[in-house]
Amino acid sequence: MSYIIEPERKTPVVAEADLLVCGGGYAGFAAALCAARLGAKVLLLEKYGFLGGLITTSLVITTPPLNNGINQEVGRLLREQRAYVFCQHSGRDPQDAEAGDVSALMHAVDPELIKYEFPRMLLAAGVRLLLHAYIAGVVREGPAIKGVIMESKAGRQAVLAKMVVDATGDADIAALAGAPVREVKKPMTMMYNLAEVDVARAVAHLGHWGNLKNVLRRAMARGEVAFDLGIAPEFGAPGVHAAEAVYPGQLNVWSGMLSGLSGIDPWDLTQAELITREHVMRLTRFLNAQVPGFERARIECTSTQVGVRASRQLVGGCSPKMAEIKGVKFADTVAKPYAKNPMRLPYGALLPQGVDNLLVAGRCLSADDDALGQLRLWPVCAITGQAAGVAAALCLRHGVGPQQLDVGLLQKELEDQGMDLGL
Ligand SMILES: Cc1cc2nc3c(=O)[nH]c(=O)nc-3n(C[C@H](O)[C@H](O)[C@H](O)COP(=O)(O)OP(=O)(O)OC[C@H]3O[C@@H](n4cnc5c(N)ncnc54)[C@H](O)[C@@H]3O)c2cc1C
Repeated sequence: MSYIIEPERKTPVVAEADLLVCGGGYAGFAAALCAARLGAKVLLLEKYGFLGGLITTSLVITTPPLNNGINQEVGRLLREQRAYVFCQHSGRDPQDAEAGDVSALMHAVDPELIKYEFPRMLLAAGVRLLLHAYIAGVVREGPAIKGVIMESKAGRQAVLAKMVVDATGDADIAALAGAPVREVKKPMTMMYNLAEVDVARAVAHLGHWGNLKNVLRRAMARGEVAFDLGIAPEFGAPGVHAAEAVYPGQLNVWSGMLSGLSGIDPWDLTQAELITREHVMRLTRFLNAQVPGFERARIECTSTQVGVRASRQLVGGCSPKMAEIKGVKFADTVAKPYAKNPMRLPYGALLPQGVDNLLVAGRCLSADDDALGQLRLWPVCAITGQAAGVAAALCLRHGVGPQQLDVGLLQKELEDQGMDLGL
Protein backbone atom coordinates (compact mmCIF):
# COMPACT_ATOMS: atom_id res chain seq x y z
CA MET A 1 0.00 0.00 0.00
CA SER A 2 1.27 3.51 -0.75
CA TYR A 3 0.82 6.44 1.62
CA ILE A 4 0.70 10.24 1.60
CA ILE A 5 1.92 12.45 4.44
CA GLU A 6 -0.75 14.96 5.45
CA PRO A 7 0.53 18.42 6.40
CA GLU A 8 0.37 19.36 10.08
CA ARG A 9 -2.66 21.54 10.83
CA LYS A 10 -4.38 23.41 13.65
CA THR A 11 -7.72 21.88 14.62
CA PRO A 12 -10.15 24.21 16.42
CA VAL A 13 -11.55 23.06 19.77
CA VAL A 14 -15.30 23.70 19.46
CA ALA A 15 -16.66 22.16 22.68
CA GLU A 16 -15.70 20.77 26.09
CA ALA A 17 -17.66 18.35 28.25
CA ASP A 18 -17.30 16.41 31.48
CA LEU A 19 -18.56 13.33 29.71
CA LEU A 20 -18.44 12.77 25.98
CA VAL A 21 -20.78 10.02 24.75
CA CYS A 22 -19.74 8.82 21.30
CA GLY A 23 -22.65 7.38 19.33
CA GLY A 24 -26.38 7.90 19.79
CA GLY A 25 -27.72 4.34 19.51
CA TYR A 26 -29.75 2.89 22.39
CA ALA A 27 -26.60 2.34 24.46
CA GLY A 28 -25.30 5.89 23.92
CA PHE A 29 -28.74 7.36 24.57
CA ALA A 30 -29.00 5.46 27.89
CA ALA A 31 -25.46 6.42 28.93
CA ALA A 32 -25.98 10.12 28.20
CA LEU A 33 -29.42 10.25 29.84
CA CYS A 34 -28.42 8.47 33.06
CA ALA A 35 -25.17 10.43 33.44
CA ALA A 36 -26.88 13.79 32.90
CA ARG A 37 -29.57 12.91 35.45
CA LEU A 38 -26.74 12.52 37.97
CA GLY A 39 -25.51 16.04 37.22
CA ALA A 40 -22.72 15.36 34.69
CA LYS A 41 -22.27 17.85 31.85
CA VAL A 42 -22.76 15.54 28.89
CA LEU A 43 -22.22 16.03 25.17
CA LEU A 44 -23.39 13.31 22.78
CA LEU A 45 -21.93 13.07 19.25
CA GLU A 46 -23.75 11.15 16.51
CA LYS A 47 -22.93 10.79 12.83
CA TYR A 48 -26.55 10.60 11.60
CA GLY A 49 -29.23 13.30 11.87
CA PHE A 50 -31.26 11.26 14.38
CA LEU A 51 -30.74 8.91 17.33
CA GLY A 52 -31.56 5.24 17.89
CA GLY A 53 -28.66 3.53 16.09
CA LEU A 54 -29.60 0.18 14.56
CA ILE A 55 -33.20 0.51 15.79
CA THR A 56 -33.78 3.52 13.55
CA THR A 57 -31.04 3.29 10.90
CA SER A 58 -31.51 -0.41 10.23
CA LEU A 59 -35.15 -1.00 11.24
CA VAL A 60 -34.29 -3.46 14.01
CA ILE A 61 -37.64 -2.76 15.59
CA THR A 62 -38.28 -6.01 17.46
CA THR A 63 -37.14 -6.53 21.00
CA PRO A 64 -37.51 -8.84 23.96
CA PRO A 65 -39.53 -7.24 26.80
CA LEU A 66 -38.28 -3.83 27.93
CA ASN A 67 -38.42 -4.87 31.56
CA ASN A 68 -35.27 -3.83 33.38
CA GLY A 69 -33.45 -0.58 34.13
CA ILE A 70 -33.93 2.35 31.76
CA ASN A 71 -35.85 0.04 29.39
CA GLN A 72 -38.86 0.23 31.70
CA GLU A 73 -39.15 4.00 31.30
CA VAL A 74 -38.73 3.80 27.51
CA GLY A 75 -41.23 0.91 27.28
CA ARG A 76 -43.83 2.86 29.30
CA LEU A 77 -43.38 5.95 27.13
CA LEU A 78 -43.77 4.00 23.89
CA ARG A 79 -46.66 1.89 25.20
CA GLU A 80 -48.59 5.02 26.16
CA GLN A 81 -48.35 6.05 22.52
CA ARG A 82 -49.24 2.54 21.29
CA ALA A 83 -45.79 2.31 19.75
CA TYR A 84 -44.65 -0.80 21.68
CA VAL A 85 -46.74 -3.91 20.99
CA PHE A 86 -46.48 -7.69 21.34
CA CYS A 87 -45.57 -9.49 18.09
CA GLN A 88 -48.41 -11.73 16.97
CA HIS A 89 -48.31 -14.98 14.97
CA SER A 90 -44.59 -15.52 15.49
CA GLY A 91 -45.06 -19.26 15.88
CA ARG A 92 -43.37 -19.05 19.29
CA ASP A 93 -45.24 -19.96 22.46
CA PRO A 94 -45.21 -17.10 24.99
CA GLN A 95 -45.12 -19.79 27.71
CA ASP A 96 -41.52 -20.54 26.63
CA ALA A 97 -40.68 -17.21 28.18
CA GLU A 98 -41.47 -18.70 31.58
CA ALA A 99 -38.56 -21.07 30.99
CA GLY A 100 -36.27 -18.11 30.40
CA ASP A 101 -36.54 -17.89 26.58
CA VAL A 102 -37.03 -14.14 26.23
CA SER A 103 -37.23 -14.35 22.43
CA ALA A 104 -40.68 -15.93 22.84
CA LEU A 105 -41.93 -12.55 24.01
CA MET A 106 -40.80 -10.30 21.17
CA HIS A 107 -42.36 -6.87 20.90
CA ALA A 108 -42.20 -4.31 18.07
CA VAL A 109 -41.71 -0.55 18.35
CA ASP A 110 -42.30 2.38 16.03
CA PRO A 111 -38.83 3.73 15.15
CA GLU A 112 -40.25 7.16 14.26
CA LEU A 113 -41.26 7.67 17.88
CA ILE A 114 -37.77 6.73 18.99
CA LYS A 115 -36.31 9.34 16.62
CA TYR A 116 -38.69 11.86 18.18
CA GLU A 117 -38.60 10.89 21.89
CA PHE A 118 -34.90 10.11 22.44
CA PRO A 119 -33.62 13.64 21.76
CA ARG A 120 -36.52 15.13 23.73
CA MET A 121 -35.61 13.02 26.76
CA LEU A 122 -31.92 13.90 26.45
CA LEU A 123 -32.52 17.62 26.06
CA ALA A 124 -34.91 17.56 29.06
CA ALA A 125 -32.10 16.00 31.14
CA GLY A 126 -29.64 18.71 30.02
CA VAL A 127 -27.59 16.68 27.52
CA ARG A 128 -26.03 18.68 24.67
CA LEU A 129 -26.46 17.01 21.30
CA LEU A 130 -24.34 17.30 18.19
CA LEU A 131 -25.68 15.41 15.19
CA HIS A 132 -24.01 15.04 11.77
CA ALA A 133 -20.65 14.70 13.54
CA TYR A 134 -18.47 11.75 12.56
CA ILE A 135 -15.71 10.90 15.03
CA ALA A 136 -12.54 10.23 13.07
CA GLY A 137 -9.77 10.50 15.65
CA VAL A 138 -8.81 10.46 19.31
CA VAL A 139 -6.40 12.79 21.10
CA ARG A 140 -4.51 10.95 23.81
CA GLU A 141 -2.55 12.46 26.68
CA GLY A 142 -0.55 9.75 28.45
CA PRO A 143 -2.88 6.96 29.53
CA ALA A 144 -6.06 9.03 29.06
CA ILE A 145 -8.17 10.35 26.20
CA LYS A 146 -8.08 14.14 26.10
CA GLY A 147 -10.71 14.50 23.40
CA VAL A 148 -11.86 13.41 19.98
CA ILE A 149 -11.53 14.77 16.45
CA MET A 150 -14.70 14.92 14.44
CA GLU A 151 -15.39 15.57 10.78
CA SER A 152 -18.51 17.35 9.58
CA LYS A 153 -19.66 19.88 7.00
CA ALA A 154 -17.87 22.41 9.24
CA GLY A 155 -14.55 20.64 8.65
CA ARG A 156 -12.29 18.94 11.16
CA GLN A 157 -12.89 20.00 14.75
CA ALA A 158 -11.93 18.82 18.24
CA VAL A 159 -14.01 18.24 21.37
CA LEU A 160 -12.33 17.87 24.77
CA ALA A 161 -13.66 15.72 27.62
CA LYS A 162 -12.71 14.39 31.05
CA MET A 163 -14.48 11.07 30.59
CA VAL A 164 -15.58 9.20 27.45
CA VAL A 165 -18.16 6.48 26.76
CA ASP A 166 -17.66 4.57 23.50
CA ALA A 167 -21.16 3.62 22.30
CA THR A 168 -20.31 3.54 18.58
CA GLY A 169 -21.25 -0.14 18.26
CA ASP A 170 -17.95 -0.70 16.44
CA ALA A 171 -15.61 0.20 19.33
CA ASP A 172 -14.30 3.08 17.19
CA ILE A 173 -13.04 5.10 20.14
CA ALA A 174 -11.37 2.17 21.91
CA ALA A 175 -9.63 1.22 18.64
CA LEU A 176 -8.55 4.80 17.86
CA ALA A 177 -7.24 5.15 21.42
CA GLY A 178 -5.14 2.02 21.00
CA ALA A 179 -7.02 -0.24 23.42
CA PRO A 180 -7.03 -3.95 22.52
CA VAL A 181 -9.96 -4.85 20.23
CA ARG A 182 -10.70 -7.77 17.92
CA GLU A 183 -12.43 -7.76 14.54
CA VAL A 184 -15.39 -10.03 13.88
CA LYS A 185 -17.54 -10.66 10.80
CA LYS A 186 -21.15 -11.50 11.59
CA PRO A 187 -23.88 -11.82 8.96
CA MET A 188 -25.41 -8.55 7.78
CA THR A 189 -29.10 -8.08 6.99
CA MET A 190 -31.21 -5.40 5.40
CA MET A 191 -34.42 -5.18 7.43
CA TYR A 192 -37.39 -3.47 5.79
CA ASN A 193 -41.04 -2.73 6.35
CA LEU A 194 -43.93 -3.73 4.12
CA ALA A 195 -47.26 -1.91 4.17
CA GLU A 196 -50.71 -2.93 2.95
CA VAL A 197 -50.33 -6.61 3.77
CA ASP A 198 -53.63 -8.46 4.29
CA VAL A 199 -52.38 -10.03 7.50
CA ALA A 200 -55.49 -12.13 8.23
CA ARG A 201 -55.34 -13.68 4.75
CA ALA A 202 -51.57 -14.29 4.97
CA VAL A 203 -51.84 -15.91 8.41
CA ALA A 204 -54.77 -18.05 7.28
CA HIS A 205 -52.55 -19.33 4.46
CA LEU A 206 -49.28 -19.69 6.39
CA GLY A 207 -50.48 -20.63 9.89
CA HIS A 208 -47.82 -18.40 11.41
CA TRP A 209 -44.96 -16.24 10.10
CA GLY A 210 -42.36 -18.88 10.87
CA ASN A 211 -43.72 -20.88 7.91
CA LEU A 212 -42.92 -18.16 5.39
CA LYS A 213 -39.29 -19.23 5.19
CA ASN A 214 -40.42 -22.76 4.25
CA VAL A 215 -42.64 -21.39 1.46
CA LEU A 216 -39.67 -19.39 0.21
CA ARG A 217 -37.25 -22.31 0.46
CA ARG A 218 -39.55 -24.50 -1.60
CA ALA A 219 -39.84 -21.74 -4.22
CA MET A 220 -36.04 -21.43 -4.28
CA ALA A 221 -35.71 -25.20 -4.78
CA ARG A 222 -38.15 -24.96 -7.71
CA GLY A 223 -36.09 -22.13 -9.18
CA GLU A 224 -38.93 -19.59 -8.86
CA VAL A 225 -36.86 -17.10 -6.89
CA ALA A 226 -33.07 -16.73 -6.92
CA PHE A 227 -31.22 -16.03 -3.70
CA ASP A 228 -27.84 -16.47 -5.34
CA LEU A 229 -25.76 -13.46 -4.32
CA GLY A 230 -24.33 -14.87 -1.11
CA ILE A 231 -27.46 -14.46 0.99
CA ALA A 232 -28.06 -17.50 3.16
CA PRO A 233 -31.62 -18.49 4.05
CA GLU A 234 -30.71 -19.57 7.57
CA PHE A 235 -31.61 -18.89 11.18
CA GLY A 236 -35.24 -17.95 10.59
CA ALA A 237 -34.58 -15.76 7.56
CA PRO A 238 -35.74 -14.72 5.09
CA GLY A 239 -39.03 -14.18 6.80
CA VAL A 240 -41.34 -11.93 8.70
CA HIS A 241 -39.83 -10.77 11.94
CA ALA A 242 -42.82 -8.93 13.38
CA ALA A 243 -46.43 -9.14 12.36
CA GLU A 244 -48.53 -5.99 12.38
CA ALA A 245 -45.35 -4.15 13.34
CA VAL A 246 -47.19 -1.60 15.43
CA TYR A 247 -49.66 -0.65 12.65
CA PRO A 248 -52.30 -2.81 10.88
CA GLY A 249 -51.05 -4.24 7.62
CA GLN A 250 -47.41 -3.42 8.40
CA LEU A 251 -44.72 -6.12 8.56
CA ASN A 252 -41.07 -5.92 9.52
CA VAL A 253 -39.19 -8.27 7.18
CA TRP A 254 -35.86 -9.95 7.70
CA SER A 255 -34.51 -10.29 4.16
CA GLY A 256 -31.69 -12.79 4.76
CA MET A 257 -28.12 -13.08 6.04
CA LEU A 258 -25.06 -11.97 4.07
CA SER A 259 -21.91 -13.49 5.54
CA GLY A 260 -18.18 -12.93 5.22
CA LEU A 261 -18.05 -9.14 4.84
CA SER A 262 -16.61 -6.57 7.24
CA GLY A 263 -18.82 -3.97 8.92
CA ILE A 264 -15.92 -1.52 9.17
CA ASP A 265 -14.62 -1.70 5.58
CA PRO A 266 -16.43 0.74 3.25
CA TRP A 267 -15.75 -1.46 0.19
CA ASP A 268 -17.36 -4.45 1.91
CA LEU A 269 -20.20 -2.27 3.19
CA THR A 270 -20.85 -0.97 -0.34
CA GLN A 271 -21.10 -4.52 -1.62
CA ALA A 272 -23.41 -5.42 1.29
CA GLU A 273 -25.75 -2.48 0.61
CA LEU A 274 -26.08 -3.40 -3.07
CA ILE A 275 -26.57 -7.13 -2.54
CA THR A 276 -29.03 -6.89 0.35
CA ARG A 277 -31.12 -4.26 -1.47
CA GLU A 278 -31.29 -6.50 -4.53
CA HIS A 279 -32.63 -9.27 -2.30
CA VAL A 280 -35.21 -6.99 -0.72
CA MET A 281 -36.66 -6.36 -4.20
CA ARG A 282 -36.54 -10.03 -5.19
CA LEU A 283 -38.19 -11.11 -1.96
CA THR A 284 -40.93 -8.50 -2.24
CA ARG A 285 -41.70 -9.39 -5.86
CA PHE A 286 -41.90 -13.05 -4.87
CA LEU A 287 -44.28 -12.29 -2.00
CA ASN A 288 -46.46 -10.09 -4.25
CA ALA A 289 -46.73 -12.79 -6.87
CA GLN A 290 -46.85 -16.00 -4.86
CA VAL A 291 -48.15 -15.59 -1.32
CA PRO A 292 -51.82 -14.89 -0.54
CA GLY A 293 -52.23 -11.71 1.48
CA PHE A 294 -49.18 -10.01 -0.07
CA GLU A 295 -50.75 -9.14 -3.44
CA ARG A 296 -50.97 -5.41 -2.68
CA ALA A 297 -48.01 -5.22 -0.30
CA ARG A 298 -45.50 -2.46 -1.01
CA ILE A 299 -42.15 -1.51 0.49
CA GLU A 300 -42.88 1.20 3.03
CA CYS A 301 -39.22 1.79 3.92
CA THR A 302 -35.86 0.05 3.86
CA SER A 303 -32.95 0.50 6.27
CA THR A 304 -30.88 3.69 6.00
CA GLN A 305 -27.90 1.36 6.15
CA VAL A 306 -27.50 -2.40 6.06
CA GLY A 307 -27.75 -3.94 9.56
CA VAL A 308 -24.29 -4.81 10.91
CA ARG A 309 -24.56 -7.14 13.89
CA ALA A 310 -20.91 -6.90 14.93
CA SER A 311 -17.64 -5.63 13.52
CA ARG A 312 -15.16 -4.93 16.30
CA GLN A 313 -15.32 -6.01 19.95
CA LEU A 314 -13.47 -4.61 22.91
CA VAL A 315 -10.98 -6.98 24.52
CA GLY A 316 -11.51 -5.57 27.97
CA GLY A 317 -10.90 -6.22 31.64
CA CYS A 318 -12.83 -9.48 31.30
CA SER A 319 -14.62 -11.34 28.49
CA PRO A 320 -17.23 -13.55 30.16
CA LYS A 321 -18.55 -16.70 28.48
CA MET A 322 -22.25 -17.50 28.16
CA ALA A 323 -22.11 -20.12 30.92
CA GLU A 324 -20.71 -17.49 33.31
CA ILE A 325 -23.24 -14.87 32.25
CA LYS A 326 -26.07 -17.33 32.89
CA GLY A 327 -24.64 -18.91 36.02
CA VAL A 328 -22.42 -16.52 37.96
CA LYS A 329 -23.46 -13.79 40.39
CA PHE A 330 -20.44 -11.58 39.64
CA ALA A 331 -19.34 -9.52 42.64
CA ASP A 332 -19.12 -6.59 40.19
CA THR A 333 -22.47 -7.25 38.43
CA VAL A 334 -23.65 -4.00 36.81
CA ALA A 335 -26.31 -5.24 34.43
CA LYS A 336 -28.99 -7.92 34.49
CA PRO A 337 -30.43 -8.05 31.00
CA TYR A 338 -33.97 -9.21 31.84
CA ALA A 339 -36.02 -9.11 35.00
CA LYS A 340 -37.03 -12.81 34.87
CA ASN A 341 -33.79 -14.18 33.45
CA PRO A 342 -30.69 -15.25 35.42
CA MET A 343 -28.19 -13.51 33.09
CA ARG A 344 -25.73 -11.02 34.64
CA LEU A 345 -22.87 -8.93 33.26
CA PRO A 346 -19.74 -7.83 35.16
CA TYR A 347 -18.35 -4.27 35.17
CA GLY A 348 -15.06 -5.53 33.71
CA ALA A 349 -16.81 -6.18 30.37
CA LEU A 350 -17.14 -2.39 29.94
CA LEU A 351 -13.55 -1.51 30.86
CA PRO A 352 -10.84 -1.27 28.19
CA GLN A 353 -7.23 -2.16 28.87
CA GLY A 354 -4.67 0.62 28.81
CA VAL A 355 -6.98 3.67 28.62
CA ASP A 356 -7.81 5.34 31.93
CA ASN A 357 -10.96 7.42 31.29
CA LEU A 358 -12.95 5.30 28.82
CA LEU A 359 -15.95 2.98 29.22
CA VAL A 360 -17.40 0.89 26.38
CA ALA A 361 -21.12 0.10 26.18
CA GLY A 362 -23.55 -1.60 23.83
CA ARG A 363 -22.95 -4.23 21.19
CA CYS A 364 -19.14 -3.77 21.07
CA LEU A 365 -18.46 -4.53 24.76
CA SER A 366 -16.07 -7.25 25.86
CA ALA A 367 -17.43 -10.81 25.99
CA ASP A 368 -16.83 -14.23 24.53
CA ASP A 369 -18.40 -14.81 21.08
CA ASP A 370 -20.81 -17.41 22.46
CA ALA A 371 -22.36 -14.76 24.72
CA LEU A 372 -22.48 -11.85 22.32
CA GLY A 373 -25.53 -13.03 20.36
CA GLN A 374 -27.62 -12.50 23.54
CA LEU A 375 -25.74 -9.45 24.79
CA ARG A 376 -26.31 -7.56 21.53
CA LEU A 377 -30.09 -7.56 21.94
CA TRP A 378 -31.05 -3.95 22.25
CA PRO A 379 -32.51 -3.88 25.80
CA VAL A 380 -29.18 -5.34 26.94
CA CYS A 381 -27.24 -2.65 25.07
CA ALA A 382 -29.39 -0.06 26.88
CA ILE A 383 -28.61 -1.27 30.37
CA THR A 384 -24.90 -1.54 29.61
CA GLY A 385 -25.17 2.08 28.47
CA GLN A 386 -26.96 2.93 31.70
CA ALA A 387 -24.22 1.23 33.73
CA ALA A 388 -21.46 3.03 31.77
CA GLY A 389 -23.18 6.43 32.06
CA VAL A 390 -23.79 6.07 35.79
CA ALA A 391 -20.22 4.85 36.33
CA ALA A 392 -18.84 7.82 34.38
CA ALA A 393 -20.95 10.30 36.37
CA LEU A 394 -19.84 8.76 39.68
CA CYS A 395 -16.19 8.85 38.56
CA LEU A 396 -16.53 12.55 37.77
CA ARG A 397 -18.22 13.20 41.13
CA HIS A 398 -15.57 11.36 43.15
CA GLY A 399 -12.55 12.34 41.04
CA VAL A 400 -11.53 8.74 40.20
CA GLY A 401 -11.11 6.75 37.00
CA PRO A 402 -13.47 3.92 35.96
CA GLN A 403 -10.91 1.30 37.05
CA GLN A 404 -10.76 2.78 40.59
CA LEU A 405 -14.51 3.33 41.06
CA ASP A 406 -16.08 1.63 44.09
CA VAL A 407 -18.40 -0.86 42.33
CA GLY A 408 -20.61 -1.01 45.43
CA LEU A 409 -21.45 2.68 44.90
CA LEU A 410 -22.27 2.02 41.25
CA GLN A 411 -24.49 -0.95 42.09
CA LYS A 412 -26.37 1.05 44.74
CA GLU A 413 -27.01 3.91 42.30
CA LEU A 414 -28.21 1.51 39.59
CA GLU A 415 -30.59 -0.18 42.04
CA ASP A 416 -31.85 3.23 43.19
CA GLN A 417 -32.65 3.91 39.53
CA GLY A 418 -34.86 0.80 39.44
CA MET A 419 -32.37 -1.66 37.92
CA ASP A 420 -32.79 -5.22 39.22
CA LEU A 421 -29.20 -6.52 39.44
CA GLY A 422 -30.22 -9.78 41.06
CA LEU A 423 -27.62 -9.35 43.80
C1 LIG B 1 -30.16 -7.32 11.25
C2 LIG B 1 -30.16 -7.24 12.74
C3 LIG B 1 -31.20 -7.81 13.45
C4 LIG B 1 -31.23 -7.70 14.84
N1 LIG B 1 -32.31 -8.21 15.52
C5 LIG B 1 -32.50 -7.88 16.80
C6 LIG B 1 -33.72 -8.15 17.44
O1 LIG B 1 -34.65 -8.71 16.84
N2 LIG B 1 -33.88 -7.73 18.74
C7 LIG B 1 -32.88 -7.11 19.42
O2 LIG B 1 -33.07 -6.75 20.58
N3 LIG B 1 -31.68 -6.86 18.84
C8 LIG B 1 -31.49 -7.20 17.54
N4 LIG B 1 -30.31 -6.87 16.92
C9 LIG B 1 -29.20 -6.29 17.71
C10 LIG B 1 -29.44 -4.83 18.11
O3 LIG B 1 -30.20 -4.13 17.15
C11 LIG B 1 -28.12 -4.07 18.31
O4 LIG B 1 -27.14 -4.87 18.89
C12 LIG B 1 -28.33 -2.82 19.18
O5 LIG B 1 -29.37 -2.03 18.64
C13 LIG B 1 -27.01 -2.06 19.25
O6 LIG B 1 -27.17 -0.86 19.97
P1 LIG B 1 -25.88 0.03 20.26
O7 LIG B 1 -26.38 1.32 20.80
O8 LIG B 1 -24.88 -0.74 21.03
O9 LIG B 1 -25.19 0.26 18.83
P2 LIG B 1 -25.76 0.97 17.53
O10 LIG B 1 -27.24 0.83 17.45
O11 LIG B 1 -24.94 0.45 16.39
O12 LIG B 1 -25.45 2.51 17.77
C14 LIG B 1 -24.19 3.09 17.53
C15 LIG B 1 -24.40 4.55 17.19
O13 LIG B 1 -23.15 5.20 17.05
C16 LIG B 1 -23.10 5.95 15.85
N5 LIG B 1 -21.71 5.95 15.42
C17 LIG B 1 -20.96 4.86 15.09
N6 LIG B 1 -19.72 5.23 14.79
C18 LIG B 1 -19.66 6.57 14.91
C19 LIG B 1 -18.63 7.53 14.72
N7 LIG B 1 -17.39 7.16 14.37
N8 LIG B 1 -18.92 8.84 14.93
C20 LIG B 1 -20.18 9.22 15.31
N9 LIG B 1 -21.20 8.35 15.50
C21 LIG B 1 -20.93 7.04 15.32
C22 LIG B 1 -24.03 5.21 14.91
O14 LIG B 1 -24.51 6.05 13.89
C23 LIG B 1 -25.14 4.74 15.86
O15 LIG B 1 -26.15 5.70 16.02
C24 LIG B 1 -30.21 -7.00 15.53
C25 LIG B 1 -29.16 -6.43 14.81
C26 LIG B 1 -29.14 -6.53 13.44
C27 LIG B 1 -28.03 -5.86 12.66
